[in-house]
Amino acid sequence: MSTEDAGFKLARRRVWVAGHNGMVGSALVRRLAREDCEIVTVDRAAVDLRRTAEVEAWMGETRPDVVVMAAARVGGILANDSYPADFIYDNLMIAANVIDAAHRFDVAKLLFLGSSCIYPKHAPQPMAESALLTGPLEPTNQWYAVAKIAGIKLCQAYRRQHGRDFIAAMPTNLYGPGDNFDLAACHVVPALIAKTHAARESGATTLEVWGTGKPRREFLYVDDAADALVHLLKVYSGDDHVNIGCGEDIAIAELAGLICEVVGYDGALRFDAGKPDGTPRKLLDVSRLAGLGWTARTPLREGLALAYDWFLAHAGEGARRAIGATG
Ligand code: GDP
Repeated sequence: MSTEDAGFKLARRRVWVAGHNGMVGSALVRRLAREDCEIVTVDRAAVDLRRTAEVEAWMGETRPDVVVMAAARVGGILANDSYPADFIYDNLMIAANVIDAAHRFDVAKLLFLGSSCIYPKHAPQPMAESALLTGPLEPTNQWYAVAKIAGIKLCQAYRRQHGRDFIAAMPTNLYGPGDNFDLAACHVVPALIAKTHAARESGATTLEVWGTGKPRREFLYVDDAADALVHLLKVYSGDDHVNIGCGEDIAIAELAGLICEVVGYDGALRFDAGKPDGTPRKLLDVSRLAGLGWTARTPLREGLALAYDWFLAHAGEGARRAIGATG
């Protein structure tokens, strides 16, 4: 019997992907389409996940068997720093409303998604799940991080008090199709793809990169992340959250160089030390995930090329909205 046979079955289940318009949610919908399950989604205009009554009404009408929480207010370093109230309030409310309603309406399995920014700013690298709450957070995104830590604790509390099979996964920085390319709010990969493309198109001789270029980050292609999440749904049930990453990191300066190659831009990089670096390094310890039988497939360069293809095909669509995506 394989590990998957031993675990939770998705076949013939009704699966609600909350946040299906976002990068992770849309990758989950693509991945779940290969399972023998029914996928249900709802738009933000119809159900505002920050409003308890709206979430309960939707859950009561829809009665999903499985919930994957890919809905969140997300953003890069600048957006987090500029809108702390939105980041903490929206994410706390979404987590509390959906998790409590999942309990009330007897959901068989719930998967909550956070991100690697839940770990202390100076956590030993690579960051194991056990590093949670062992030190102060990175100040720029502490608001988002506290809400995501609350989500993990909600899952644990409902497991303990009510015997619910609610689990949590913490993906590293994700990128790929469906990313947010709005420069004021987005993360470094889409920002550098959009900026490098614009520099090449305009014939600019330099490309501005925020910070010193020295921080190191781990990047995982979003379809790999969706595959890992579906795997966890099937094989994992436990109190502890599970890191999702590829186990390798890269300096921002090096990432910028790779993106220049993918886009075909040969200007010079100019580092703007006036912009924040954020956490010096973020690399997840993915040994628990590996022990559960999953490893990443898509090499960074290949994933960046796929992300750039998506950007070229959708560049005219403008900025994507910030709610409804986890990343
Ligand atoms: P973080 O992982 O929470 O720090 O969020 P980001 O993905 O926004 O930033 C990661 C790193 O990339 C930080 O050190 C940024 O200063 C750096 N970076 C370099 N250029 C850019 C850019 O154009 N946009 C963003 N968002 N970050 C950039």
